[in-house]
Amino acid sequence: MYNAKYKRVMLKLSGEALAGEKGYGIDFDVTKKIAEEIKSLVDMGVEVGAVVGGGNIWRGRSGEGMDRTTADYMGMLATCINGLALQDSLENIGVNTRVQTAIEMKEVAEPFIRRRAMRHLEKNRVVIFSAGTGNPYFSTDTTAALRAAEIEADVILLAKKVDGVYDKDPHKYDDAKKFDKLNYIEVLEKGLQVMDSTATSLCMDNSIPILVFGLDNPENIRKAVMGEKIGTLVSKE
Ligand code: UDP
Repeated sequence: MYNAKYKRVMLKLSGEALAGEKGYGIDFDVTKKIAEEIKSLVDMGVEVGAVVGGGNIWRGRSGEGMDRTTADYMGMLATCINGLALQDSLENIGVNTRVQTAIEMKEVAEPFIRRRAMRHLEKNRVVIFSAGTGNPYFSTDTTAALRAAEIEADVILLAKKVDGVYDKDPHKYDDAKKFDKLNYIEVLEKGLQVMDSTATSLCMDNSIPILVFGLDNPENIRKAVMGEKIGTLVSKE
């Protein structure tokens, strides 16, 4: 049965999403739940690319006093650890998965080769893009935007700790208002916390819609793909 709204998706998970309540490291009960939701997409015939952040282990900006480039490479390596963890959880439940890295480490995972990634997706393998863009001074949000453009994904599913985009921090302000939809310019002008501006601009230039939703309930991944009204949609309109 195939009734999903999108045929090919790019799922962006922050590193924190893998840490669960602990807030640090990897919680394998959480990765298992996420893997099960991804499996349900694959079972529907949806092609899934994924980018996982690294913030649960290391972020470039954690390296105060460090050389920025070195700190960023540490962050990129952190995304590889997370990518392998998610691959393991997916393969444990029978989902064929490939990790492709932007920095070559071929004993560990395949290097990123776009045509190969496309072929994996066509064969219903989940492809996890790790090591970010391979460049310092970028983020994994930008990686998700770049890889989404490269693999011609229909949408970026941006799973966050909050359930959409608000005009101010909903954890701090009771009267924070959630947006149902926004356009890219509004996000950039209002400085809203969706993706960083490099990533948002890349999505705008390539007309890639971004659906922001909460990962508090991993079932939201499936709801998002089924076109159920959740979160905030950022697009041209
Ligand atoms: N990073 C980088 N280049 C990239 C992607 C990531 O240098 O193309 C580094 C950067 O230091 C970043 C870290 O990897 O802080 C982890 O990624 P990110 O902060 O985006 O993870 P998230 O916040 O999504 O967990």
